[in-house]
Amino acid sequence: MLQQTQVDRVLPKYEEWLSKYPTLEALAAASPEEVADTWRPLGYNARPQRLHEIACEVVARYGGELPSDETTLRSFKGIGAYTVGAVQSFAFGRRAAIVDTNVARVLFRVFVGRGDRKTTVMEKRIWAMSEALLPRRDVFDFNQALMDLGALVCVARSPRCLVCPMRAICRAYPFNPDLEGPTS
Ligand code: SF4
Repeated sequence: MLQQTQVDRVLPKYEEWLSKYPTLEALAAASPEEVADTWRPLGYNARPQRLHEIACEVVARYGGELPSDETTLRSFKGIGAYTVGAVQSFAFGRRAAIVDTNVARVLFRVFVGRGDRKTTVMEKRIWAMSEALLPRRDVFDFNQALMDLGALVCVARSPRCLVCPMRAICRAYPFNPDLEGPTS
């Protein structure tokens, strides 16, 4: 919900969503039209449809319990590497990396420093780095901290390097936008 819409607009819709569909069974039992109507003000109309389809599949094939293993999660239409990592880490407390745009930007700047982050080779390298960095414990906190660092400090256009805890080891510091490919 937060990918395209600001937090203050998302919160009331998120609460409405949870009260209407507190379980996967409740979501699966709703009609696709009702689900789409609940979600509509948030954009991304394909997303509620996918969620509804996944809920139906989980209820039909897994008794309403979302599986936690990577292979099964990946088999659901619309679930990619980021969502698998988020579900495994946040919902199941597994040792799994999450690389969203913010995390990719932080890791790229700290460990690479300059160049184009959005090549296939670099995206693979960033995923490998994120997996290698995962701590043995408190993975939830680690992932959340990295995401927050990218969202609040190492932002795309004017990173707040002077208050950044990574400054001492960051290869992009002092930050120069001319040394980085397209920012986001
Ligand atoms: S020092 Fe600056 S560029 Fe490096 S991670 Fe921190 S905010 Fe980002």
